[in-house]
Amino acid sequence: MKSDTFLQTKEYAQQLDRGSWTFREEFYIKEGTYYMDGNSLGLLSKRAEKTLLLSLDDWKNLGIDGWTSGHQPWFDFSEKLGALTTPLIGAKPEETIVTGSITTNIHQLFATFYKPEGKRTKIVADELDFPSDIYAIKSQLQLHGLDPNEHLILVKSHDSRTINEADIISAMTDEVAIVWLPSVLYRSGQLLDMELLTQEAHKRNILIGFDLAHSIGALPHSLHDWDVDFAVWCNYKYLNSGPGGVGGLFVHKRHHGKAPGLAGWFSSNKEKQFDLELDLTHAHSAGAFQTGTPHILSTAPLLGSLEIFAEAGIENIRKKSLEMTEYMMNLIEAELSDFGFDIGNPGENEHRGGHVCLEHREAARICKALKDHQVIPDFRAPNVIRLAPIALYTTFEEIWETIQIIKRIMVNEEYKNYENARNVVA
Ligand SMILES: *Cc1c(COP(=O)(O)O)cnc(C)c1O
Repeated sequence: MKSDTFLQTKEYAQQLDRGSWTFREEFYIKEGTYYMDGNSLGLLSKRAEKTLLLSLDDWKNLGIDGWTSGHQPWFDFSEKLGALTTPLIGAKPEETIVTGSITTNIHQLFATFYKPEGKRTKIVADELDFPSDIYAIKSQLQLHGLDPNEHLILVKSHDSRTINEADIISAMTDEVAIVWLPSVLYRSGQLLDMELLTQEAHKRNILIGFDLAHSIGALPHSLHDWDVDFAVWCNYKYLNSGPGGVGGLFVHKRHHGKAPGLAGWFSSNKEKQFDLELDLTHAHSAGAFQTGTPHILSTAPLLGSLEIFAEAGIENIRKKSLEMTEYMMNLIEAELSDFGFDIGNPGENEHRGGHVCLEHREAARICKALKDHQVIPDFRAPNVIRLAPIALYTTFEEIWETIQIIKRIMVNEEYKNYENARNVVA
């Protein structure tokens, strides 16, 4: 890269854009801004807006009959959206349901599948995991009267960025009931080998589940074939379903028929739901792991959004995403190497997710300076600037511009005009 200066030009970025596909015209993108945060909150597409407005319209025109008629009847909307999600995760329709949030779905899965017995009482997670997952697991242990300090094993990182799969496997002892891991680590963007970890867990009779927050919509999965026991995700990051958009969960077919740990009337076999009996007949599908009435207005944008994913194809999205993050890493090396930056994500395609983890000890105030230049990154304490070029709507030219802006901020020491501390929402 350094030897070929054409690769560092804006013309080269434009050439890459001409040679590539995009769904950019489908999205609302604010003129003059560089949105690099689609892995935290994806942008609104016109189709997501349309399906939200259709549900509002059904409510307006049909009132309660919107549950069974109208554009997108609400009674089996969660099942339908689950089925439409399956190409993204490699699951069967009955294994997938749109419901809850990551955190509430983790509670549901642990309430259902965590059954400490004899000496098999421990849960394995990792010390770099997103706090909400850890809070949920600790509170589940406490509900069983177990001390998290003793029963939650957090696999350590050697470099504060990544977790070695070998260390996770070593932690899989005969005292472990469940292994819970992110598919892609939220900070460094490391992609774990879900298939290998599942095989190793199953060899030892341990259940294994994954949080797909940072992989769904960015890369393909084969949850059913890998034999993963269960998984959760949100739909508001790469899947662009809007702030607080309803999440999803996967439960492998072999566990169907198991009673939900947290039951409600939407856990019902749908044929029986309106019999309103006091004994629940739960669904023999992932639908059993719903609880109450689905949040329709926070679900509806997903329908339009998933149409775009069906048209683009997750394999194509992954290919372009890898090209974009590689291009970004090359520019960082070529343009920013004199300014004390490190790339914290793994470099190899098979070990990295959809974002670039740019590290700098002044990261907090560099992010503030970036925002004043209309670049939207996100900051993760203490030193990470996450930059996510989104295959559906980011351009190579925007990546180029972003790196140029970072360079100007460093050359002119503009970041020194800001305080090096995070804002409330970082
Ligand atoms: C985004 C994210 C969450 C957020 O959970 P919600 O319940 O949707 O608020 C949890 N875990 C991980 C790993 C995440 O990336």
